[in-house]
Amino acid sequence: MRRKVIIGNWKMFKGPQAARQLAKSLKLKLTDIRKAEVAVCPPFVSIEAVREIIKDTRIGLGAQNMYLQKSGAFTGEVSAEMVAESGCAYVIIGHSERRQYFQESDDSVNQKIGFALNEKLKPVVCLGETLSERESNRTEDVVKRQYIGAMKNIVSADAEKIIIAYEPVWAIGTGKNATPEQANEVHRFIRDLAANLYGKKFSEKMIIQYGGSVKPENANDLLSCKHIDGALVGGASLDADQFASIVRTAEKLI
Ligand code: PEP
Repeated sequence: MRRKVIIGNWKMFKGPQAARQLAKSLKLKLTDIRKAEVAVCPPFVSIEAVREIIKDTRIGLGAQNMYLQKSGAFTGEVSAEMVAESGCAYVIIGHSERRQYFQESDDSVNQKIGFALNEKLKPVVCLGETLSERESNRTEDVVKRQYIGAMKNIVSADAEKIIIAYEPVWAIGTGKNATPEQANEVHRFIRDLAANLYGKKFSEKMIIQYGGSVKPENANDLLSCKHIDGALVGGASLDADQFASIVRTAEKLI
């Protein structure tokens, strides 16, 4: 039986008050979920409000980012230790918006993974090509560079705790999702990369989520694919009905 992991990335939406409302709705709508792994990643300032609401549920909590130092004079940053202490089990690392607007590199992604693992957080590591990279047939080169870069010096016992999210940049927030075939093909490629690094058994068990305009209408087709083990959901995770519907689709496919 394959696992299905659905994670909502609320991005820079939902301050504590609105986050509390959304968490309450999700709590009500997801009471009967038993098999799918579900988590939400609110902005830092809303984590505590959401934690309070979902504490006795199966909905997990994650952060959208963290800094690559243990502590120190890094004004405005938040460490892995703080993320863990605030009740998060997951942390998104290397989201394409961070790579694009905050100059995150494969190296900084790799360093952040190390700090996250030290705090027993589950890193959700994002990879994916831009439109121009896809159009010039560089998808596999880019994904390979990002995956190998992210996993540098990570031993398999630690790599097992990492969720990979394949998120083609051209599909994020654009309403254009990759077709199930396009996504599945890259997921299979990532699984092969992992098999080369950590062995076939490891690669068969690893979780690879798809992200990029996942909605209730396309969730079934995407999540039914052999190599797609879940979804990282942006826009649709801000709407309790839509997110719950995607989770329900995952639950049915397990
Ligand atoms: C994301 O933020 O990771 C994402 C996939 O966004 P969206 O679902 O809005 O494309």
